[in-house]
Amino acid sequence: MFKKVLIANRGEIALRVIRACRELGIETVAVYSEADRESLHVRFADDDVCIGPASARDSYLRIPRLIAAAEITGADAIHPGYGFLAENAEFAETCAASGITFIGPTPHQIRTMGDKSAARAAMIANEVPVVPGSPGPVDDVDEALAIAERMGFPVIIKASAGGGGKGMRVARDADDFARSFQLARSEALSAFGNGSVYVEKYLERPRHVEFQVLGDTHGNVIHLGERDCSVQRRHQKLVEEAPCPVMTPELRARMGAAAVKGAKAIDYVGAGTIEMLLDQDGSFYFMEMNTRIQVEHPVTEMLTGVDLVKEQIRVAAGLPLGVTATPELRGHVIECRVNAEDPKRNFQPSPGRIDVFHMPGGNGVRVDTHAYAGYSVPPFYDSMIAKLIVHGRDRDEAIAKMRLALETFIIQGVTTTIPFLGTLMQHPKFVEGDVHTKFLEKEGADLFT
Ligand code: ADP
Repeated sequence: MFKKVLIANRGEIALRVIRACRELGIETVAVYSEADRESLHVRFADDDVCIGPASARDSYLRIPRLIAAAEITGADAIHPGYGFLAENAEFAETCAASGITFIGPTPHQIRTMGDKSAARAAMIANEVPVVPGSPGPVDDVDEALAIAERMGFPVIIKASAGGGGKGMRVARDADDFARSFQLARSEALSAFGNGSVYVEKYLERPRHVEFQVLGDTHGNVIHLGERDCSVQRRHQKLVEEAPCPVMTPELRARMGAAAVKGAKAIDYVGAGTIEMLLDQDGSFYFMEMNTRIQVEHPVTEMLTGVDLVKEQIRVAAGLPLGVTATPELRGHVIECRVNAEDPKRNFQPSPGRIDVFHMPGGNGVRVDTHAYAGYSVPPFYDSMIAKLIVHGRDRDEAIAKMRLALETFIIQGVTTTIPFLGTLMQHPKFVEGDVHTKFLEKEGADLFT
């Protein structure tokens, strides 16, 4: 097992990884930017290294500084968390070249799944259903239009290198197409330095249903059930839950088998997520694979009792998975992402000092956060300040727990999304479980006022 793990991240996920390491008897190293000097992860780690100024480009994204920090402190492994360098194949390669274990999949696995169009091709080759679309990237607008016309409108044009909802454009008809195609290409070029795009059938009201997978170096690949992440704003998840409200054991068996097949197609090692779209007619399609721990991983942890971060560490150390089959999925779990943002002002970030911070508690309530009273939310990074996760016997109980937990989650000093989430938990459609990825856009207007 590792002696010392450096966490190449900040915020709640850095704390989450520190906890897993300490439970496993592993020492930890925190890295921080000048803006994060007062952060809890710096206080809770055994060792800490300042890696540069506030801007992530000059700190958390600087590979040589992270490697140097690991070497100075004698860390033998690096956990990347999510975001920043978590899906950067070059970082994984540099770790290996420096004799440091990257806690995650191989550079090849990261690269294959990071290119959406390559990932699609790998899935097609392994008979995992993908959304109907172009077999690979298309450069020529006329060729792309011909494909779109054959499939039928609407279609979505997507950046091969896409992520975070960037480089995606919907085209409703042939007139719309050329403009959307060029927009997607130029957005992809400026966001990812790669203008390659492909075309997919656009599903009108799909659910976003993703499967958590785990693989080890001994050939085991399992899934740990699904998470429904349909409540999104501009393709960003706000609420996640499991089980998916419309899931049946039969559908889970089929989708889970497809997820495992997808992960096995690249001999996947570590924790990963196969994201799929579930259409209203019950058809499902592979969308992409995330080759890292995800923000919403606690949903699966509470549903299964499996510690996903510890599994990541075990697998990276060459040990077999601690679980060898899909565990029993117990009860119902909901997660709300609490952001320092103002929903009344188009979710504009609201950084600043937190004066009052009171967390909810009780049976089945988990809060993953790096915030505390007196902490200043810096303006430089993601505005998520806490994840609130509740576990009930069934969905109704989970919703009741979430409502109460949100009511008793008191944060003053910065504006947060807590009141918005509280109203969302009362929305009749959410309560019925009748949501899709465009739910907030189409039916959430009254939630924002
Ligand atoms: P990113 O990597 O940028 O997050 P994804 O491919 O994961 O992009 O897609 C993000 C979201 O975009 C999905 O959760 C879904 O809401 C929407 N989406 C993607 N592809 C389609 C599609 N073919 N039809 C309808 N919605 C889609």
